[in-house]
Amino acid sequence: MNFTPEQIRELAGQFEGREPLDILQWAADQFGSRLAISTAFGPDGLVIIDIAQRKIAPRIPVFTIDTGFLFPETLELIGKIEREYGITIEKLQPDPVAETELYRRDPNRCCHLRKVLPLQKKLPALDAMITGLRRSQSATRGDTPVLQLQETPTGHRYVKINPLATWTEEQVWWYIVSRQLDYNPLHDRGYASIGCTPDCCTRPVAEGEHERAGRWAGTAKKECGLHTFAANI
Ligand code: SF4
Repeated sequence: MNFTPEQIRELAGQFEGREPLDILQWAADQFGSRLAISTAFGPDGLVIIDIAQRKIAPRIPVFTIDTGFLFPETLELIGKIEREYGITIEKLQPDPVAETELYRRDPNRCCHLRKVLPLQKKLPALDAMITGLRRSQSATRGDTPVLQLQETPTGHRYVKINPLATWTEEQVWWYIVSRQLDYNPLHDRGYASIGCTPDCCTRPVAEGEHERAGRWAGTAKKECGLHTFAANI
């Protein structure tokens, strides 16, 4: 992977406001088999998967992190997506965690063991990773660029590609509804953002609450670490 930080910043500026399709095709052309989509099957990930699987050649592989605490509805959705697009989604697994309810005592440690470490193990196989990050998802994501060069604590550099960075939640749902994509039925029960099953990690949001308000509600924790463990360079 030969991009300098300056080149990535310049490209990020050029891609600002471009169609996700154009960004994804650029990524496929640049990174070939060392590119993958990372998703937890939220609405944003579903849009990216749909564009990538229907319109991009060569097809871009998809992976997810199976923390061991995924909702049954999420697992069912993964199966539907695999059948819909005729793909196999790679499921990264954490090493066994001795304390089963670590999420109550130390959710940051739990996310590190169950999410961040599996991703960190996967990344050396990639030069670029596509995510569904959007600026409008939360204050902590408000300055998400379309492209960013990142380096893991173990020294692996990769390009993070956020084709929906500039989209709104309404645009995402418009895409899903107008194309009649499958989505997680928990969204219809008030779960705006869906992570792991413990009620301290994911709960439904009330009318008027922000879309990520149901994640680790009542604590200062806003991110699982997947989007913050690597340094921007
Ligand atoms: S979201 Fe909760 S259960 Fe899932 S890894 Fe993080 S702390 Fe653990």
